Amino acid sequence: MIKHLAGMAWAWLVAAATLAQAQEMQQVSFRHEGKTLVVKGQVLVEDRQGGVLLLGRDGRLWTISAPAILRRQPTGEPFAPFSPQELGKRLLAELGPDFELHITRHYVICYNTGRGYAHWVGALFERLYLAFRTFWKRKGLRLQEPQFPLVAVVFADKSSFRRHARPALGDAVENVLGYYNQRSNRMVMYDLTGAGPQQRRFLTQSQIRALLSRPGAERTVATIIHEATHQIAFNTGLQRRFADIPVWVSEGLAMFFEVPDLKSKRGWRGLGKVNRVRLRGFLAYLPHRPQDSLLQLLKSDQRFRDPQQVHHAYDEAWAWYYFLMRTRPKQLVQYHKLLAQKPVLQWDTPQQRLEDFTSVFGPLPPLEKEFFRFLKSQR
Ligand SMILES: [Zn+2]
Repeated sequence: MIKHLAGMAWAWLVAAATLAQAQEMQQVSFRHEGKTLVVKGQVLVEDRQGGVLLLGRDGRLWTISAPAILRRQPTGEPFAPFSPQELGKRLLAELGPDFELHITRHYVICYNTGRGYAHWVGALFERLYLAFRTFWKRKGLRLQEPQFPLVAVVFADKSSFRRHARPALGDAVENVLGYYNQRSNRMVMYDLTGAGPQQRRFLTQSQIRALLSRPGAERTVATIIHEATHQIAFNTGLQRRFADIPVWVSEGLAMFFEVPDLKSKRGWRGLGKVNRVRLRGFLAYLPHRPQDSLLQLLKSDQRFRDPQQVHHAYDEAWAWYYFLMRTRPKQLVQYHKLLAQKPVLQWDTPQQRLEDFTSVFGPLPPLEKEFFRFLKSQR
């Protein structure tokens, strides 16, 4: 998942104020990467200088600084997201003539690979969506319907995916099979069957299932389920985009759900199973794990930004999320509710993050003791 907030230099922190007339749609003309853009949307936040966080009708978030704004006027209409068809039309215009649309209940899938794969991936996401909602409902948390159609762009192969994604991801694109972007609200990925241009046009659902059930394919599929989980979480009210959600929570959640289940047509048997890959990774980290490992994880996202630490940070985030879900589901729901209220573009101090956590789960030392006992029992 990418957030793209690092470049934002202006003073939201002191100036952020949610607007009273939040539901009204405005038209904003502004300079963006050397071009003039005109976007209709809802102003979510305005800073003291007049810069805005604008929510577009396609679900994209625009951070526009005051000097970049050329003109801003009310449209007199209430904010209305695009319909799936309208959004689909715009995606096709943006991506080019070799793309097609597959629209499901919650998703708009824009693809230039075989139609069979687009249908397979659409069914996979809808199953995940349903499983995710049901899971949280059983835990006492009712999620909202997404405000926007959920967009997935599916490229035919790795090289065209990389060409498209490089501007957003930089060199990280080499190691990525797909991603969810909080700013655009889209998932971008490619056909994982590895079929050639002729073959992929005619692949049936059962052939695709067979190709993706090969040994080694499970982790590949897990990555797109992981990204799809991020997108669902940020579109159903469990998490708010551009709010200060600790990375270990977002990632722990996505890794909790990423265990694929490709066999059953209904339900999702893999949900909440031990993520063996992550558990192995965490156990291998234990001999080197510093005393303050948990504290650092809770207080800041720094471990996720450090190339030396990022893998251990993911494994530990999974381990903690899994442990809390298994042993303290009620508190975890309470913690998610607390995080869901975090306002956009306001950043907590490390102390605040720690307090949020301990206010729900209690002091760290006894928790950590139980955590290790629990993990041993999962081997
Ligand atoms: Zn992730």
